[in-house]
Amino acid sequence: MSRIVDISIGEIEVIALRDGEAAVPADVLLNLSEDDAATIAADENNSLSQTNINAHLIRSGDRVMLVDAGARELFGPTCGFLIDALAEAGVSPGDVTDLFFTHLHPDHVAGALTPEGGAVFENAALKVVDAERSFWTDESFDAVEVNGADWAGLAQAVLSAYANQVESITSDGELMPGVTVVSIPGHTPGHVGFRVDSDSQSMIHLGDIMHVPVMQLIDPRVATVFDIDGEAALASRIRMLDMVSADQLLCTSSHMLSPKFAHIERASTGYAVVQ
Ligand SMILES: [Zn+2]
Repeated sequence: MSRIVDISIGEIEVIALRDGEAAVPADVLLNLSEDDAATIAADENNSLSQTNINAHLIRSGDRVMLVDAGARELFGPTCGFLIDALAEAGVSPGDVTDLFFTHLHPDHVAGALTPEGGAVFENAALKVVDAERSFWTDESFDAVEVNGADWAGLAQAVLSAYANQVESITSDGELMPGVTVVSIPGHTPGHVGFRVDSDSQSMIHLGDIMHVPVMQLIDPRVATVFDIDGEAALASRIRMLDMVSADQLLCTSSHMLSPKFAHIERASTGYAVVQ
């Protein structure tokens, strides 16, 4: 089955690259209804808590920008297929001119490191928002699994593998002509998406506002323990869903299922993907 979905926004090509898929386990989900909690507990491959791990590729002129780099082997055998997805798009790691991280969580950065700790994308300038980089390098972290010392250590290992290639960007800066960063704080302090505008066409990447879109569209209060500031993440989730509904913006995101590019509308309960 194909791992890529390719669209054009004016002159700019955007390709969704599916690194993998998994069901999110019940113990990392918050604010579930009793019915949903029972469904998920009864079947670990249930449809409610399905997620995908997506990276994206933006091609424009001579620029080949990879957005996020997948999970490598960290999330089990159904994830870690970024390089296959890139190959399907006709891109080898050495072709990537720019690497942009929406944030520094493992499922977004692990695939940028070789097993030996080197840079997979040797020719790429690494673009990271200042607030995100300083959070994962300045704080002290507890020895806990989620948002703890291991995740910070991985973020720091990636930053050091690309130390000579890192470019600071701001959370509303320009990534390339027609592609701008979109600030979406909460999930992590420097969490961002991006927006493409070209020839009167537009598209937005919503970062990690949703990890289990089936449930979070219906009830945005459903959350995961991965959000560092849950209250700010909820505010960002609702603000972005309201904005894309009102503006009828084509959306994609890091954990969207299929379709990879879709409009989102307000529904009688929460929001719904419009095919
Ligand atoms: Zn993520």
